[in-house]
Amino acid sequence: MTNNIPYKIFLSEEELPKQWHNIRAVMKELPDPFLNPATLEPCTADDLRAVFCDELVAQELNTTDLYIDIPQEIRDFYKMYRPSPVVRAYNLEKRLGTPAKIYYKFEGQNTSGSHKLNSAAAQVYYAKQQGLTHLTTETGAGQWGTALAMACAFYGVDLNVFMVKVSAEQKPQRKAVIQTYGASVTPSPSNTTEIGRKILAENPGTGGSLGCAISEAMEVALKTDNCRYVLGSVLNHVLVHQTIIGQEAKAALDKYGIQPDMIIGCAGGGSNLGGLISPFMEGKIKGENDIEFIAVEPASCPSLTRGRYALDFGDTGQTTPLMRMYTLGSGFMPSPNHAGGLRYHGMSPIISKLYHDGYLTARSVEQTKVFDAATVFAQSEGTLPAPESSHAIRVAIDEALKCKETGEEKTILFGLTGTGFFDMTAYTAYLDGTMTDYIPTDEDLQKGFDSLPQQG
Ligand SMILES: *Cc1c(COP(=O)(O)O)cnc(C)c1O
Repeated sequence: MTNNIPYKIFLSEEELPKQWHNIRAVMKELPDPFLNPATLEPCTADDLRAVFCDELVAQELNTTDLYIDIPQEIRDFYKMYRPSPVVRAYNLEKRLGTPAKIYYKFEGQNTSGSHKLNSAAAQVYYAKQQGLTHLTTETGAGQWGTALAMACAFYGVDLNVFMVKVSAEQKPQRKAVIQTYGASVTPSPSNTTEIGRKILAENPGTGGSLGCAISEAMEVALKTDNCRYVLGSVLNHVLVHQTIIGQEAKAALDKYGIQPDMIIGCAGGGSNLGGLISPFMEGKIKGENDIEFIAVEPASCPSLTRGRYALDFGDTGQTTPLMRMYTLGSGFMPSPNHAGGLRYHGMSPIISKLYHDGYLTARSVEQTKVFDAATVFAQSEGTLPAPESSHAIRVAIDEALKCKETGEEKTILFGLTGTGFFDMTAYTAYLDGTMTDYIPTDEDLQKGFDSLPQQG
């Protein structure tokens, strides 16, 4: 129909969304509230304020406002690297020989190399407003730690990053970037916390996991004055901040009257996927569209496709509130695959609920096939994708190839969450053929399920 769709659909600075979108306000059933593990009663704002800053707690518990205003200061921060474009993957379509129309929303155009900066900017702003001087966090692949370090440098807040040990070893340059922005980096598990020492005693050779790093960062936050913990995914308020992605994507597509048939995102903790699909999901819930939403996860860490919908802790040390989510169990130790940002045992409670209620589907993919897709994408579209993002690329390509067989002209939108410049160890393993596809057995998964608390 329309041949005049440009390679890149840009929005102007004025069109940068003024509000985030809060899908809980339209969900027919809400995710279960977080439970205090000691009392098994729903967490109150007071329970959460010990760990998170006040405004973020309010957003976390806000199930009624469909829109939440983005403070002008955060919009001004966003303007350094947003609005981000929606790109029509003409060259990829040509290479695949598909009649499908492929679009991607590109979030890699900032130094952190991912969408994580969208929530980092917001979280540090609110911490600063509250007069906090210090933040702690965890980072897996390093993108979140970098994003938060950037925001902390901007607002003048101290930051201590617990970085999953395998990532710190695989990506020393990433660590140096974080330090350049003035944050300190501790490989996790470490000897600097009680929980770190305990985990090390129990698993001496462990490469760490996000769950371990979260426990360590929370312990330091609770023991340090004027300090809070911040998380880069999973929680409701993080997903809300990431809706800047979906709001922009929808505005850009609407300009050309483009209606996606399918929206695909990689899912680690679920924040980019949730952020991308949120405004489109509103339409689906209201019966206004019939978009197919697909979450893509690694076969090595399959929380949606093989996990349980259960009450679980967010961290290995079992210190967080209990959340009902798809989970492999907080004791699950994923094999060291190369998509660090997707190595998390659980999944956003919002995404989990939408999946449980049939609003979205999920697939798991093996990492060598992910890197096949990453290579095709890099060679045709130019951008070197992050391994995490390449999970979404894999399924987008699979779907486009199906269209080639059936002749369907589906419109596919996927989230290209970031760039892979710091992932060359992974690309090297792929290129020299040493990359393996680890798929946990049912027995492996059972060990994780055995760590689930029994209350659920
Ligand atoms: C962190 C990260 C992800 C996964 O996190 P979500 O919360 O599931 O979005 C995906 N891609 C990149 C590039 C990341 O940094």
